[in-house]
Amino acid sequence: MRILVLSDLHANATALTAVLDAARDRWENVVCLGDVVGYGPDPNEVTTTIRRLGARTIRGNHDKAATDLMETNDFNPVAKVAVDWTRSHLSADNLKWLAELPQGPVETDGIVLVHGAFQDEDEYVFTPGQALEGLLDSTAAVTFFGHTHHQGGFSYENVNSSLEVLNIHPRPSESFAPLRIEPQRRYLLNPGSIGQPRDSDPRAAFAIADLEHHLVEFWRVPYDIAEVQARMRSARLPEALVQRLVMGR
Ligand code: ZN
Repeated sequence: MRILVLSDLHANATALTAVLDAARDRWENVVCLGDVVGYGPDPNEVTTTIRRLGARTIRGNHDKAATDLMETNDFNPVAKVAVDWTRSHLSADNLKWLAELPQGPVETDGIVLVHGAFQDEDEYVFTPGQALEGLLDSTAAVTFFGHTHHQGGFSYENVNSSLEVLNIHPRPSESFAPLRIEPQRRYLLNPGSIGQPRDSDPRAAFAIADLEHHLVEFWRVPYDIAEVQARMRSARLPEALVQRLVMGR
């Protein structure tokens, strides 16, 4: 089964549309690692699209903040403005759906989904040390995580206890970079962010997992960033959030 893996959509409907167009007819099942909303101008459109797709979805910290399941004291001032804007613009029905999203880890179709770390949904996994716990403890050989907005991940080989950082960056001319899944290794993989990439590539990121064929594809697709920025400015979302989309930072 080919599984479309979406994460950190952040209310960016233009990026999500570009992703779904690029992935059309390439997947049979779809999962979502959270942060459906927050930062972007289209919280209702993106939430409705994810609901319509029937994506198996876990909550992210922005979904929790927008639905008052989490304090925003730890959010920076710009992120907090976006949380409050998002909360006031979401429909009652979409707010309810977001508030009821389950917490990761969730196991489905032979993979495990988490938003942040395996043991803590709000923790960022940037380093091999932070990744190790999840690589060892996850109930599946392949676990997908989000939260950092960095495409790539880590793998671990049991016999020699070797932990490898997977630097996966589809070139500007490429749509995707394939990763071969080796049976003796365990994987913690980040599909990257659709709505607000932070790994210096502004293209929307996602992944397609085909474990029967031992393959994960890490995709990047361009989208009309200026169109999203115009909607953000007319919504009076913070200018720092508007500008970072172009830089992919
Ligand atoms: Zn996020």
